[in-house]
This record gives sequence, structure tokens and C-alpha cells, in this order.
Amino acid sequence: MDGRHSAGSQGSPRDSHFAPNDWVWSPDASCGYRRSRVVSVDDGRDSLYVDDTRGGAAHEVRKSELRPFYDVGETRTFQDNTEMVHLDDANILDNLRKRYAKDEIYTYTANVLLAVNPYKPLPHLYTKEAMDKYWGKNPGTLPPHPYAISDVAYRQMQRDKRNQALVISGESGAGKTETAKFTMKYLTTKSRTDVAQGSRIQEKIVMANPILESFGNATTVMNLNSSRFGKYNEMMFNPVGSLVGAGIKTFLLESSRVVGQQKGEKNYHVFYELLSGMDEDALSELCLERDRSYKLIHSNGPQPAEESADARRLAKQFQELKEALSLFLDEEPQNNIWQVLGALIHLGEVDFVELEAEEEKDAFLQPPEPSPSHCASPSASSAAASDLTSISRSLPTTQSAHVEIHPDTEDSLEMACGLLGLGAKAVRKILKFKEMRVNRQGRISEIRCPRTLAQARQTLHCIIKILYKRLFDKIVASINHVSNAGAKYQENNYHNIGTLDIYGFERLESNSFEQLCINLANERLQQFFVEEVLEAEQRMYAEERLNVQMMELPDSAPVVSGIHSVLKLLDEHSLRAVKNLVREGGAKDSKFCEQVYRELIDTKGQRAIMALKLKASRTDRGPSLHDGFQIAHYAGAVSYSTKGWIDKNNDSLVPEIEQVLNDAEIPLIQEMADLSRAASGERLCSVSSMYLSNLTDLLATLKKCSVHYIRCFNPNQERKAGVFNAKYVLDQVIQCGTVELVNIMHHGYPHRCILKDLRGRFQKLLPPEFAHYSDRDFMHAVMLAWEIDDHQWTLGTSRLFLKAGQLRALEELRDIGG
Ligand code: ADP
Ligand code: MG
Repeated sequence: MDGRHSAGSQGSPRDSHFAPNDWVWSPDASCGYRRSRVVSVDDGRDSLYVDDTRGGAAHEVRKSELRPFYDVGETRTFQDNTEMVHLDDANILDNLRKRYAKDEIYTYTANVLLAVNPYKPLPHLYTKEAMDKYWGKNPGTLPPHPYAISDVAYRQMQRDKRNQALVISGESGAGKTETAKFTMKYLTTKSRTDVAQGSRIQEKIVMANPILESFGNATTVMNLNSSRFGKYNEMMFNPVGSLVGAGIKTFLLESSRVVGQQKGEKNYHVFYELLSGMDEDALSELCLERDRSYKLIHSNGPQPAEESADARRLAKQFQELKEALSLFLDEEPQNNIWQVLGALIHLGEVDFVELEAEEEKDAFLQPPEPSPSHCASPSASSAAASDLTSISRSLPTTQSAHVEIHPDTEDSLEMACGLLGLGAKAVRKILKFKEMRVNRQGRISEIRCPRTLAQARQTLHCIIKILYKRLFDKIVASINHVSNAGAKYQENNYHNIGTLDIYGFERLESNSFEQLCINLANERLQQFFVEEVLEAEQRMYAEERLNVQMMELPDSAPVVSGIHSVLKLLDEHSLRAVKNLVREGGAKDSKFCEQVYRELIDTKGQRAIMALKLKASRTDRGPSLHDGFQIAHYAGAVSYSTKGWIDKNNDSLVPEIEQVLNDAEIPLIQEMADLSRAASGERLCSVSSMYLSNLTDLLATLKKCSVHYIRCFNPNQERKAGVFNAKYVLDQVIQCGTVELVNIMHHGYPHRCILKDLRGRFQKLLPPEFAHYSDRDFMHAVMLAWEIDDHQWTLGTSRLFLKAGQLRALEELRDIGG
């Protein structure tokens, strides 16, 4: 664990006093905490001896690592963690475990909902009756549920005339996407329908999900249906609370997956669905064969034969996908989508061969054929020729070869171009040669330089990735276009409820650029949580003049600004790389990493960005070269390898290809071209800048909302029902700041009700003589008259504050008294 967690932040019982024979939780490498008994205590020392009550030898444990054990029996659990006597990680974990064993997968921590993935259907939890039960009820009065959180959001939207957001977090496989679907289903089912919209809008919101999942989800080692993009789903309501429209914003689709997957993982679902579900005629129009193995999708995942076991399921999903798409797209654009996918599969087959320079001397450097769209001046060719000497001097010797399309794969290229409606000749040229603009004495000219084998392959991959990414964006745009049609966004008496389902913190065996982006999002959401929930909570106590113990809170700012500095350096290096004519391969990544070391790494290990210990690569370039660094995230330290970052950070297509796309015969492809970029000659389209600005927008959106939190936990990595790997869950509980939350809420009062509202609700509890009392005095009288334990509540200036569980008690009073 990194240094950012002080022992106190896990709720360590610094003030606890242990005596021999006391039951305690003592730390355990395999199950997090083990129930143990104190054997002997020496008051002078900060450690004591415990045994595990199973006959094992007593061992020494530091007092600060022990947690008090409070025996309530194996079956009794708390639906709100803040109701427990001991509020530390060990007792929270135990409560979650016991509830999970009873299929009670939801638990509150004050108003944050915790959910543990059951890995099995629990249909009784999500029936129509269950929805009805939660509608309009106070959340403390029913078992914890995502419906309750959704209901609170809906009520608050109407009452406060304010946008609401549900932030759903957790690691991959924890159940975020399923939970997000439950909340959306609840809101679409229960909220009123705008007459003008009919039930159509509900249908569209629900049906957008399978489309996004086909194109944006894939099988990974963590989750068979893992979302590889973040999304923020907004549902729009008019002033009377009727659903009128919806919109989706997506974040950073993992495009590297399209061209390669790790062991045991697959490409996006849609490829397999298409191959299994499309009828023969349509398949042959795409020149695809159902049982053939294709590099793009089978090189690492299952072979078509293995997949045929799944064929029926995939085929069914394809039919569902088509039905869902029909809500948003006509047949023609739908067919275009299949054409693009088919073309990408064929492009994936294309490979190259390298020809020695001797064989193809002329091809080494040759001015491009004069073509008006490429040459900036009529004399470009001659200018280019005069530049050749200086360029060729700067070319490394490895470039003294040139590539051709592998003859066996020529057909694939032709088929792909046929499907995309592109000229194969133009595409071939782009794959083989790089065109460069040279500014010589104020005159721009272009020269053409052959690509190496690696460059040609990389260019091809880049085209496949970016076409897929743009296709995904197009589909999202179509969904939005149709779902927004009736919504009058701008009117400020319309409000929305957003659901954020974004990838959780990742620490893989090998972490790259994508993980840094993902972890930055989590870092900033955590910062938001600390500022907006925890700090706000403490501020409110101060404002209401309550005497509540304040806590020191974790601060993400240094890490966030550290990562921003890393990304800024990355942009500088990316820009340098695209401007520099011939910078090659891995060297540019190392140059970047070296600068991170020079400027950002703190050798004393005090700052967020740290050196990778002994990770200097021992290549021929010598041991001084660094290929990665480490970041101390709130959820633990992560080592990143910087290999490939300069390329990953650039989303721009070869400018020439933009023109080719724009000339395509198929409208969808034409729309996918970005000519403005090509025209400006801008060759860097920074992925990280785009991402940072999306993230900033998202946080600005959240800041204007009332935010509700759902934290999902993955109980085990085997995706098994009924298995609660306590150590694994404990790490997640600590990572997400639940312990801090529990502590603050415990010292404080999780329920706060506006006195005026309460008075209206509890009017009947006191006789009419009290009618002239102020709201505050009235509620004070209620609490005294009904003898509610005065440790359990306190009055602020405008609110009544209640400890966990007390709201339920009060509601019961009303039922008796009213
Ligand atoms: P995440 O989005 O956090 O990566 P998912 O929501 O995709 O995780 O959940 C992974 C899998 O776990 C789902 O495909 C489903 O099989 C199972 N799952 C998650 N939540 C539930 C639930 N509430 N009930 C039943 N199964 C669930
Ligand atoms: Mg997901």
C-alpha cells in the first residue's frame, strides 16, 4: 500500500483498549481479518499477542492493526453500516459478508449504496412489484436497493428543480453496468410518460443498451461482458416529471482492442454476432465466410469452431441488435455499418512484405506524382527533389528497404476497399508511402517516403482503429439524435437524471496509457467525492453549529496535477514526433519517459510520480534508459510502462486518408472523414487532451447536480456465485473511501431533514395546541414527547439531524400516532 493512507483512515481503533480474552479482528493475509482472541497484553508495548482460536500458536500483532469484534451473531446484519457500534474496515467487511451469504447484496453506508455482485440472477429483487414498493418511499424505510436511490433522485429533481446524477463506481466485473440498467429501468418504468412521446422514448432508452454493448463491450479476463468505454446517460424530464428524452455521452473507447487483444480476451462482441447471426446471402455480400478464422477477431480469442457452441446465442444477439438498431437507423445506414465491419475484418487480413533496397532502389525516395490536391505549389516536385539529399541523410539505415502488400493478401485489401467504396490504388499508396510536407525557404512542398514494414503495419492498424472508433461515435450520435428529438433541453424548467457508468480503477499486470486515463478519471471522481460529499458534510455540521468531531481527509490534488503534468509532456513529445520527419519506433517513447524522470520524478519518493524501481531497461541503448514510472494513486501504487504512448496519444488519421474517405461512395464513410484536420495539416489529434476536456466537462456537469453514489464490489475473480473473497473485497472497500465515509457519517448524522418538511409530515403527532410553535420548536417537542434517545438526534438551525436508523423509527411513530 502506498503512503497516502494513514493508519487512522481505515478507522483504526486508536482509542480502543484491549484486554486478555477480548475478541478481536486481527489482520489476515488470506481473508482480510480473522476472528481472534487476545492472549496477553503488555501495556508498555504497542503490540500484543493473539491466537486464532483454532489451536494455532499465539502471534504478535500491532495494536493499531487490530479491530474490536462486536458479536451480534452470524445472522444479524445491519442494512446501514453506520448503524454498527464499531465502524472500521473489519466490521464493514463482516457485515457485507454476512449479508451476501443471505443474498442481501445491497447495504447502505448512510446515503451511499454498496452493492456486491451476486453472479447469479436474483429476479425477485427486480420485479414490477418491487418497483411499486419503492415508488415514493423514504429510502431508510425499505431494504437498500438501487430503486431507492433512483427514487430519491427523481423526488429531489422535482422538489429542488435540480439535475441529479447517479455515480456508479467499482472495478471491472463489480456490476456497474447491470446496476446502471436497473436504475434506468426503474426510472423509465415508473416515471410518467409524456403523452406526445408515447411509450416510444422509454423503449429507445432501454434499447440503446444492447447496441452500445454490442459495439462497446467485449470479453475480458475480468468480465465476459466488459464495457470498454465510459458512459454518462442522461434522461430528461419536463416540469411535471414526465420523461421526454435522453442522451448519451461516451468516454474513451478502448480502440486498441480492435486490432489486438490480450490472452483470453476477445474483440468487440459485434464482430462475432455478425459472423454468427447474419444470413448467408448478406454474409457473402460482405465476402465473409462464417467458419473462417480471421486475424482481427480470432488471432487470440476462440477459433470459429469453438465459438460455434455459442453460435446460437450470438445469432440471437445479432437479431436483437438489428431490431434495436431499427429504432434509430433506416435499413440503408444499417447496411453501411455491416459493410464497415466487414471491411475492417478484411483489412485485418492485409499484411506486407519487405523488399530490399537493392531490388527497388528507385522506390527508396521518389517525389510524388504531381496531384493538385497534394501539391501546395506547382513546383512542388522539383522542390521536393532538391530536398531529398537532406532528408535522406537524416533517414536511419533501417529505412533502406520498402514494403509491398503481401501478394496473398491483395484480395483482402481489394475486398475491404470495395466495401468501403474507396479506391484500392489510393489506399495502397498510403499504406506504402508517407507523404511529408517540407517547408523550405517559406515554400511548402511535399515529398514521399517509403514506410518500413513496421510503419506500414502500424498505419494499417491505425486506420482500422480509427474507423472503428468513428463508427462507434456515429452510432452514439444516431442514438442521441433520435432520443433527443422531442426534448427541449434548453428550457431551464426541464431537468435530467444522469447515470455515470465508468470504468473503475485498474491495476493490471502491465499498465499502459489506457490505464493511466482510466485511473485519472477515478482519481478525479474520488477527489470530487471527497470534496462534494465528505468536506461538504463537515461544512454543513459547522454551518448548523453542531459539535461533531472533524476528520482529516485524503487529498487527491497532488496526484491529479502530477498526472496532468505527465500528459502535458506527452503532448509535447507527440507533437514533436509528428513534426519530426523520421523519429523511429520506441525511441520516441523513451525520450518522453526520460523527460518525465527529469522533470517530474521525485527521487525522495515524496511526490505522486515515482521512479520505477529497478525497471531501467537493459537494452543496447544502455541501462540509463527508463521505460516507465510509478504513480501513487489513492487506491494504491501502479506501475506504468510508457511503451507505445506517443502513437496511442495520436488519433489523427494519415491526412491523405481523410481525403480518400471523403471521396468514398458510401455516405456513412464520407461522414466519417474529417477533412478540416487534413486541410490544416494538423497531424496530432491528442487523445489525452480530448479525454481531459471530456473529463472536465463531466465534472462540471456533476458539479451542477445533486450526486448520489452507488459503489459496486466484485466478490471474487472467478465470477462465481456465493463466493465472497474477503481479502479481495476488503481491498476494494478501502480503496473507495467507504471507511472514511462511514466514520464521518457515524460521528455525524446521516439523515438530515428540513424542519419545515418534517413538521408537515408529523403534524398529527402533537395536539393542536402546538400549532403556533415554530418548526424547530415543534420538532423539538415531538422528539421530547416521544422520548427519542437524545444521543440519536440533534437540532440544527434549519434541519433535524438523525443517526442512522432513526428515520425509520420516526416513520413508524407516524404510523402509530397518525
Ligand atoms: P461492470 O460493468 O462493473 O464491469 P457488469 O455490470 O458487466 O460489471 O457485471 C458483470 C456480470 O456480473 C454481469 O454480466 C452479470 O452476469 C453479473 N451481475 C452483475 N450484477 C448483477 C446483479 N445485480 N444480478 C445478477 N447478476 C449480476
Ligand atoms: Mg460495465
